[in-house]
Amino acid sequence: MSDRITDTIATALGRHSIERSLRIGGGERKEWWNCIECDWVSEIFEIGSVSGESLQRDHHAAVIVAALKAQRIAVVELPQDVIIPTGWGDDCLGAWPTTSETDPVSAWPGHQVVTPDDRWMPSRDARSLEAALLAAADAAEAVSGG
Ligand SMILES: [Zn+2]
Repeated sequence: MSDRITDTIATALGRHSIERSLRIGGGERKEWWNCIECDWVSEIFEIGSVSGESLQRDHHAAVIVAALKAQRIAVVELPQDVIIPTGWGDDCLGAWPTTSETDPVSAWPGHQVVTPDDRWMPSRDARSLEAALLAAADAAEAVSGG
C-alpha cells in the first residue's frame, strides 16, 4: 500500500468520530448519533437498541471509500482464480477470468502476466494497464450513466 493510500485512510479515520445524543422525556427514550466532522446523522433509535461502535465502523467504512474515490484511488474486489486451462504447464501460477468468451489472465514466474490475447507483460505494466482501464471505465460510465 502506498503512502498516499495510507495517508488518505488515516486522515479520513482521524477526522470522523461519532457522538451520541439523547432525548428523554414525555415518555420518550431516544438516541441518535452524529459525526463531529461531517453532516452524517443516524436514524433515531430507542435508547440501548443500537451499538455506537457498530455505527462508528459503518461510518468509517463509508468515509474511507469516499475519501479513496475522491483521491482517484480505486478499490477493486479481485476475482477468484479459475482452473488453469489444460496444456498451460506446471509453471502457471494462476489464472483469473476476464469475460466469459476470452481466455483468462494468467500469472507466470519472473513477474510476468499474460493477457487474454496472449500478450506477455511485466507485472508492473499490468498494474499500469489495470489503472488506465479503471480510469477509462469510470469516465465512460460517468458520461453514459453507468
Ligand atoms: Zn463523518
